[in-house]
Amino acid sequence: MKVWIAAVSALAASAAAQAQQARELNFEITELRGGVVMLSTGVAGNLGLLVGDDGLLLVDDQLPGTGPQIEAAIESIAGEGIPRFVLNTHWHGDHIGANPHFHDAGSTIATHHNIRTRIEESDLEFIEADREGFLPILTFGSDLHFHMNGETVRAIHLPDAHTDGDAIVFFENANVLHMGDILFSGWFPFIDLQSGGTVDGFIAALEAAYEMTDEETQVIAGHGPLSTRDDIMASAEMIRETRAIISPMVEAGMSLPEVLAADPLADYHDDWTWGFICTPRMVATLYFDAAGEDGNPRAIPCSP
Ligand SMILES: [Zn+2]
Ligand SMILES: [Zn+2]
Repeated sequence: MKVWIAAVSALAASAAAQAQQARELNFEITELRGGVVMLSTGVAGNLGLLVGDDGLLLVDDQLPGTGPQIEAAIESIAGEGIPRFVLNTHWHGDHIGANPHFHDAGSTIATHHNIRTRIEESDLEFIEADREGFLPILTFGSDLHFHMNGETVRAIHLPDAHTDGDAIVFFENANVLHMGDILFSGWFPFIDLQSGGTVDGFIAALEAAYEMTDEETQVIAGHGPLSTRDDIMASAEMIRETRAIISPMVEAGMSLPEVLAADPLADYHDDWTWGFICTPRMVATLYFDAAGEDGNPRAIPCSP
């Protein structure tokens, strides 16, 4: 597997700020089984592509303003650059960014119902710039199946996990699973409490994904390298363990500054911290969730 370099500055929180900036993306293209291709840039969410005679299905489409570059990368793989379908795993700006580009080119954009609602109601600048372009015209509830290119692709909604509109995408015959941001492979997860995400739901989603896989499954993480079911399990176990550390501190009445000062996840720091969800932000995520507070972990500084 190729080395994957994380450019951690470019995730959902900063997507809007970057919307206006032209950004040179370097696509790392990894052919998986059964006509499925993973495209990574080290910036924003990983893309999945199904290639075949019935047309292209693209899972997620990066940051705003990246449409022409994605189109060119797809064309280099498939000989055509406009997907028949674009499926968004959730509504963050690093996964829906090129929707307007592909909308204008005639792609059909499909998402969970809640993504359409969030885009309709969002006051984020990059969405307001072209709300119609971001909106899906096809939405689903529990699941949506695509039958194309000899493949059955199942988009499966997992409730209240990273957001309230997540889907994971299973390419059945290829045995490839795109996890969206249910999997930050090897890193503390971003759980967007303000978009309906919950720690319980996130763990349940990881468990549901794990059950769908076997040792052979090629797992595309939302962020991070090409992964396996072991990475799904490792993430679930880490979140269960860290929640079991933080929850009693919340129940004991400790304030967030007190919990942060105790550095309760020190043992997890070296293996899991990264620039976007550093250890204090993981502590804050678990704290807010356990306390039932609608807090924003991204507001917590990574160093004191
Ligand atoms: Zn993401
Ligand atoms: Zn996300």
